[in-house]
Amino acid sequence: MDPRHIDGDLETILLTEEEIQGRLAEMAAEISRDYEGKDLLLLGVLKGAVMVMADLSRHLPRHAEQDWMAISSYGSGTRSSGVVRIVKDLDTDILDRHVLVVEDIIDTGLTLSWLVSNLRSRGPASVEICTLLRKPEAEKTPVDVNYVGFDIPNAFVVGYGLDFNEKYRNLRVVGTLAPHVYT
Ligand code: 5GP
Ligand code: MG
Ligand code: MG
Repeated sequence: MDPRHIDGDLETILLTEEEIQGRLAEMAAEISRDYEGKDLLLLGVLKGAVMVMADLSRHLPRHAEQDWMAISSYGSGTRSSGVVRIVKDLDTDILDRHVLVVEDIIDTGLTLSWLVSNLRSRGPASVEICTLLRKPEAEKTPVDVNYVGFDIPNAFVVGYGLDFNEKYRNLRVVGTLAPHVYT
């Protein structure tokens, strides 16, 4: 695919590759300090968190296992409902493990609230959240998010793992779509 072609579908670039990578490096340093002396399991949520997991984990100067869950949230269109189904569960037993959930974006936080209570019921030593992006509505949810890359405005964004109809995940930047893409 010609990358110039997809870039042309963006109206604005919210975050450049340099900004994303720089922030992930800072977050990785903070995570390393916080989890010093503890084992760490990074739990990626498919598919959006693939890029964050790949780059965040490679900025970590320490061992960290990775596991993945795929969940699907019943909802109409772009809104999530908080009613969630596990499509692919963890391979790992998280009993007594320190779990860090790696997310791409938190909007309403409904999906994440469900996920956190599901994980807590499995008896982990700890469950913390790390997300690259957070939207303003996330403030209303009771879930504490320990590591946030960027607080962004309430707009639909794509790139760096985030899709529109399964496209744009492979962009290195995060941006908003131009109106001609919708019409
Ligand atoms: P929440 O339950 O926090 O409202 O929704 C989280 C999920 O909705 C994210 O994991 C993501 O799949 C999707 N989502 C929320 N906001 C956006 C956005 O701006 N762009 C894209 N591509 N997906 C989003
Ligand atoms: Mg996600
Ligand atoms: Mg999506």
